[in-house]
Amino acid sequence: MKEKEAQYYKQLQDEKLQCLLCPHNCIIPKNKSGICGTRINFDGRLVTTIYGQVTAASMDPIEKKPLYHFYPGKDILSIGTKGCNFKCIFCQNWHIAHDLNANTSYYEPEEILQSAIGKKSIGLAYTYTEPFIWFEYVMDCSRLAKENNLKNVYVTNGFINPEPLQDIMEYADAMNIDLKTFRDSTYKRISGGRLDKVLDTIRAANERCHVELTTLIATGINDDMEEMKDIIQFISSVDRKIPWHISRYHPAYKYNAPATDIDFIMSVYEEARKELNFVYCGNIPGSYGGSDTVCPSCGTIVVSRTGYNTRIENLENGCCKKCGADLNIISMNV
Ligand code: SF4
Repeated sequence: MKEKEAQYYKQLQDEKLQCLLCPHNCIIPKNKSGICGTRINFDGRLVTTIYGQVTAASMDPIEKKPLYHFYPGKDILSIGTKGCNFKCIFCQNWHIAHDLNANTSYYEPEEILQSAIGKKSIGLAYTYTEPFIWFEYVMDCSRLAKENNLKNVYVTNGFINPEPLQDIMEYADAMNIDLKTFRDSTYKRISGGRLDKVLDTIRAANERCHVELTTLIATGINDDMEEMKDIIQFISSVDRKIPWHISRYHPAYKYNAPATDIDFIMSVYEEARKELNFVYCGNIPGSYGGSDTVCPSCGTIVVSRTGYNTRIENLENGCCKKCGADLNIISMNV
């Protein structure tokens, strides 16, 4: 383990420290760790135990993040660590998010950068588990990436305090932020998070970089049309051009309710399309559609997708080739 002092914390009485990285603001006694398990009060200094500890590194289609409006069809070097500040009962990556003994390999930020350049990646994606609990390492990698004209992409639960978020925003090009539910009580129950903090992150991020949102619709958790309408209204109030990915839950980790009813997901999709310009369905069979980018102005298919096979059809400088409508797509000039 490479010892690295945490950037955001303060000293309290009785040798306790308070971590200020995420809204849990954990108060950590000597030789103990916070909720995420990755920040330890080590003799009066808060130390991250996961600096450079990589559990997975892979060239992924950018659509897999998912980001559909950010360099569509390109691949990006994606890295992740272990641990999380949420405890989602249906975590899809529980084997690394909640196993602090998961195998890791150490990489210096420079090694990650050289790997991205060697693979001709458009940049670095910090993903698989919550990237912001890896804050110091993500900042070092992000700085290097930016200096080398690579993009930085964060796939996050959005549960971070405003000051460290502003640090990240210096280097951020795109984020996919989870909006798990629109009920604060559900956030607390299923993950330990808080709705208002996530909404603050979404608003702040949307001011500074490209943002897409993801909601996993889970049976018995948030498969409620009134709640879905609240999410739709919220997104519309921030910017109706923000792409919204609605994803079908399958049993995982500590939750084994049946997979989400596809008809319900499709009814949310239809409802959302009345208010939002770009809505996508994930984790459901391809025949149900909802993965192509369609111009909201003239109905032309702009980007078509079959699985992770992406084809640019009618896109020019981020706009519809047919009618010129702004599609909120960042791309090479195609
Ligand atoms: S980053 Fe970890 S230690 Fe710090 S406040 Fe959040 S959960 Fe607690």
